[in-house]
Amino acid sequence: MAYRWETPASVWLEDERTGQFDLAASEGLGQVGWSAGTQARGRVADIARLLGASLPTACEHAPIYPEGFAYCPECGRPLERFAGRQQRLPEWWGPYADALLPRHVPHGLPVTALPLGDSLEERPAAPVVGRFEAEMPPPPNAHCVFAAAGYGFPEQRLLALAPARGVLQYWDPLAAVWHVMLPEEGAADLSFTASDYGWLPLPHLGDPPRRGEVALVPTAQGLRRLWINPVTETYRTETLLAAPLVAAPGTMRRHIACLARNPAGGLSLYALDPDLAPAPAQDCGALPLTGWSRPIGYDGRLLWLHPEGQLAWRPGEAPRFLPWPDTWLPSLDLGGPTLSRDGRMWLIGHDGQSYGFLELGSERPQRERIDGARLGFANLLFRRGHPVVDEPWSGEHVEDQAEDDSLVLPLLRSFNNNRSQPSGLVLRFHKYTGRAEDALASRVIPRTTVEWIGRRNVILDEVARLSRPLECVPFVYANRLWLHHPDWNRIRGWNLEALS
Ligand SMILES: [Zn+2]
Repeated sequence: MAYRWETPASVWLEDERTGQFDLAASEGLGQVGWSAGTQARGRVADIARLLGASLPTACEHAPIYPEGFAYCPECGRPLERFAGRQQRLPEWWGPYADALLPRHVPHGLPVTALPLGDSLEERPAAPVVGRFEAEMPPPPNAHCVFAAAGYGFPEQRLLALAPARGVLQYWDPLAAVWHVMLPEEGAADLSFTASDYGWLPLPHLGDPPRRGEVALVPTAQGLRRLWINPVTETYRTETLLAAPLVAAPGTMRRHIACLARNPAGGLSLYALDPDLAPAPAQDCGALPLTGWSRPIGYDGRLLWLHPEGQLAWRPGEAPRFLPWPDTWLPSLDLGGPTLSRDGRMWLIGHDGQSYGFLELGSERPQRERIDGARLGFANLLFRRGHPVVDEPWSGEHVEDQAEDDSLVLPLLRSFNNNRSQPSGLVLRFHKYTGRAEDALASRVIPRTTVEWIGRRNVILDEVARLSRPLECVPFVYANRLWLHHPDWNRIRGWNLEALS
């Protein structure tokens, strides 16, 4: 026999014989049927915090108690109550998805509005070589993107989605273990490999998430709303748009746009209005079905970049594809779009003779020649070891001639209105005089430093034998900046002052 306890959010069954509580159902999680039995014992601390349940402090009569319980019903000893506790931490949806950036900064590039420099610049300045201060194991499927958010729960949790395999992984911070979440019956395959991966967090759309609600995710067969159930370690999906997506979705003024293959085999733009109701598809013609960048939002437009051209869309207008002019080809691996002082957006590329910047989004683009590769995006731009601080094509700012022998790869810019010079996280490849393209491919770089460039430059760490540096993934979680690379056996972390 079981006694039934109903709390505002959950139904618990108390076994009359053992005095243990099983979670029968909970708001947003449906019928759960979870028992804190021997197998699930390691999950109790995490689940209690997510549900706002209670944990024993001075007895062992039950591993977990329903929300609001202050005393063990068996012996009257006090319990630790998590009900009503609410953690306040900034959310992280990947370096490409910061909803808090002001409108004059391009969205969709690795730029964050979090004031990372305030903490990182407290450390001893270069040439002192620092070391990571925290570590965590990488998720089992290490080629992944990270999200740190509440998903409607009172505490933040870290998710790692491996798009190539469609695997969703959940970090239990109390047990310090990654769990692979299993699909519930009818859940869509989460794989997406046609183009660069990018999800749409719900805060972008202005709606607070309901319990378990994660994001809108692109999959091979449509745009889905993703829900997690951390208690059962499962996920489910809901289809918003059933179409074979070919690029990451974007949002502009609360409209969502997806590129998908249409029944005729060409490319169409499918837009959803702010109520998520689909508008009629707009034919874009015979365009590539793979290889698109994540969309960049700027100046009221979304822009998807491709080795063959750029596709631009403004809500309410027809999408427009502009092929690159004559022999010019973009160098998409070198970084992403950057701005000139007058606010126009530019992309680096090569015309067969030399590198140059091409104005984006224009029928008759202006071009500016440069004498060598430049790495970066959004005005965090470097020529070899030197920053470029004026126009993207201006001469580099040489502070230390010795940095001629290094090559800097920007990973994440920290946007701060109060600073005249861009700051951010970079990798510096030492004693590297080869081509930038080779350093970004699979060549092994003997010595790399992880650096913060800001009011003062700080060397955060040192890495031996790095290859494929573009696979480095920075993220912010639990008041730390983390850096992950699929080859590393731990994720490196640096403490931040409390962010809010
Ligand atoms: Zn007790």
